[in-house]
Amino acid sequence: LVRVRGLRKSFGANVVLDGIDLDVREGEVTVLLGPSGSGKSTLLRCVNHLERPDAGFVEIGGDIVGYRRDGTRLHELRSRSVTRQRADVGMVFQQFNLFPHMTVLENITEAPVAVRGLSRKQAAARARELVARVGLAGREDSYPRQMSGGQQQRVAIARALAMEPRLLLFDEPTSALDPELVGEVLAVMQDLALSGMTMIVVTHEIGFARKVADTVVFLDGGRIIESGAPEDVLTDPRHERARSFLAAVL
Ligand code: ATP
Ligand code: MG
Repeated sequence: LVRVRGLRKSFGANVVLDGIDLDVREGEVTVLLGPSGSGKSTLLRCVNHLERPDAGFVEIGGDIVGYRRDGTRLHELRSRSVTRQRADVGMVFQQFNLFPHMTVLENITEAPVAVRGLSRKQAAARARELVARVGLAGREDSYPRQMSGGQQQRVAIARALAMEPRLLLFDEPTSALDPELVGEVLAVMQDLALSGMTMIVVTHEIGFARKVADTVVFLDGGRIIESGAPEDVLTDPRHERARSFLAAVL
């Protein structure tokens, strides 16, 4: 489903992604690990076209992100087409990013109505199902500030699902949570993985990676230095950088 080839991105003289090749097959979960500043968030942001690569490309379902093919030529998409393309890719952030002045239901129905053109009624019916799916039935009319971090993050996941994305990106979804709330969010993510959702997850939750990931990718200095099945990469990494990182987070 996702093909990343030769992806490069610099900010000024700072080379953040230095030639990334990555494949994620439909229904698979890829966990991205790596030290702070290794380029994990930038990689996710390129997949979502929140960041424009300097070289290389990201392909989702055969379409190059941010571009339209015309025969053999590529045209950069205008912002409205980017919005449409981005609707296929859900993103969940560390800081939930819910709209504070909207209820749970309003948060979830906003994008499907605005971007997908669903009626309020259709969107609300679907939102109720999603609220139940993330274990929050009955909280439809709550405001974000009335909920715990774990609950807010589950709403953020429901909001992403409301767009029926083909791919979900998670950027350290549990890093801002109190330890006792981490499990409930990981459980929802594991449930999604089991249901066949394609996901790329940046997380330091090694237990989750071991249990749920099909592939673990280790980034360092903008390059992939390890990639493979969790039992290989997590148990017996070949690179010293990966070893010391794992020793520190375990
Ligand atoms: P962390 O674990 O701390 O979240 P990360 O692996 O997600 O780190 P990135 O956020 O991708 O790392 O950042 C990689 C590098 O790119 C860092 O040195 C960061 O300062 C730099 N960087 C990221 N975004 C920008 C930006 N918009 N402008 C300038 N520099 C940036
Ligand atoms: Mg980051």
